[in-house]
Amino acid sequence: MEKNIIIAIDGHSSTGKSTLAKQIAKALNYLYIDTGAMYRAVTYYALKNHLISNNHFDKERLIKALDHMQIGFKYNPEKGFAEVYLDGQNIEKEIRQMEVSNFVSEIAAVPEIREKLVAQQRKIATNKGVVMDGRDIGSVVFPNAELKIFMTASPEVRARRRYKELIEKGENVTYKAVVENVKKRDKIDSERSASPLIKTEDAILIDNSNLTPKEQFEQVLALAKQKIKK
Ligand code: C5P
Repeated sequence: MEKNIIIAIDGHSSTGKSTLAKQIAKALNYLYIDTGAMYRAVTYYALKNHLISNNHFDKERLIKALDHMQIGFKYNPEKGFAEVYLDGQNIEKEIRQMEVSNFVSEIAAVPEIREKLVAQQRKIATNKGVVMDGRDIGSVVFPNAELKIFMTASPEVRARRRYKELIEKGENVTYKAVVENVKKRDKIDSERSASPLIKTEDAILIDNSNLTPKEQFEQVLALAKQKIKK
């Protein structure tokens, strides 16, 4: 008998979690939820409302603003995945900019912000049949997820991939700035006290430094199918 499961994909920044999660969700006809996009949406809000900058962070006002901030997803059939919206505005493009990447880990380290977004993530997955990617999905959001994947690759490999993506999108960045951002986010994400990035014992480690996206997809899809059949 087949059953709906929860697939948690965690790991370091720019390891291709979302590419893999989207492919798996499509193959299984599951819902894909990019939780990083939710933390990025809060960061975008904070930047737009001048609540965070290099030398200032008005945490209290941002926490208050969470009560009326509407973060949601809407499926885009052309792209084949759900895009993130803030107060009715599609902000999928804006949240991928370097400015957001530079502040997102600081925002994501705030326990009140995590609490609110985690509650929303659990609600979205009430009926299972979900692939969710992030940093704490297998450890905190769904400790009982049927399949947990932890993805990693060397910082240089990840920065090269991210740099290529940003240049293709027309962003004016240097490789050095990207590699520094990747390493800084790894450090903040792994060392924070609220839900640090960890590989749980039951998560399957995938180092994709030397794996093609196709090889990785086939490995994880086979694992998912085993769990679904059980
Ligand atoms: O996945 P992505 O790189 O877009 O996530 C952006 C940032 O959001 C991460 O660097 C991390 O600081 C934070 N994040 C998190 N927990 C999640 C997803 C993302 O702390 N579940």
